Amino acid sequence: MTRKQIAALACEELEKIYPDVECSLVYDKPYELMFAARLAAQCTDARVNIVTKTLFVKYPDLEAFANADIAELEEDIKPCGFYHTKAKSLKEMAQQLINDFGGEVPQTMEELLTLSGIGRKTANLVMGDIFGKPAVVTDTHCIRITGRLGLTDNKEPAKVEKDLIKLLPPETSNHFCHQTVQFGRDICRARNPKCTECSLSYFCRYYAKNNKVR
Ligand code: SF4
Repeated sequence: MTRKQIAALACEELEKIYPDVECSLVYDKPYELMFAARLAAQCTDARVNIVTKTLFVKYPDLEAFANADIAELEEDIKPCGFYHTKAKSLKEMAQQLINDFGGEVPQTMEELLTLSGIGRKTANLVMGDIFGKPAVVTDTHCIRITGRLGLTDNKEPAKVEKDLIKLLPPETSNHFCHQTVQFGRDICRARNPKCTECSLSYFCRYYAKNNKVR
């Protein structure tokens, strides 16, 4: 079976299980997704959602973040960890969005990567979820699962992204990545994946190897 065929089957199976899955970060405004994603580095989405529930009320717009007292902002986001660098990013991002992009979230990878603390993963998330553009968000679940399936031999996010771009239909790549996150939480866990319950096992490289199917 070719990688392209495996990718098509994976899309098909995940669509059956998770047709309506969405990003688990809660946000109203485009920049809030970016800020929440920045806070989610090394933290769970669930915890970020608890923090942002009050954070986005206390700081209702970009100006509020741009003018925030940094020590106070650090306290506000402390439960998310790495609060010194994350607070600095949020404040700087707000200033950059106001000064360089007229208060709007930019739409291209090149522009998004100029923002403080934003890497390809968050940039792809924004491009896919906010602007509906083809995007591959290579988070830890996506990397693990696509590796197990045999869609990539890489572990480095940028390389996995390159591999998956060649295999996934552009119109569904962003959705596929959200599906892998949920699938990674429910079935294909990092430790003890539930292979015997998995509907992807018949084309999974990891399963074949561990069960000597081929
Ligand atoms: Fe993951 Fe196992 Fe399913 Fe393969 S068979 S996708 S390793 S849960």
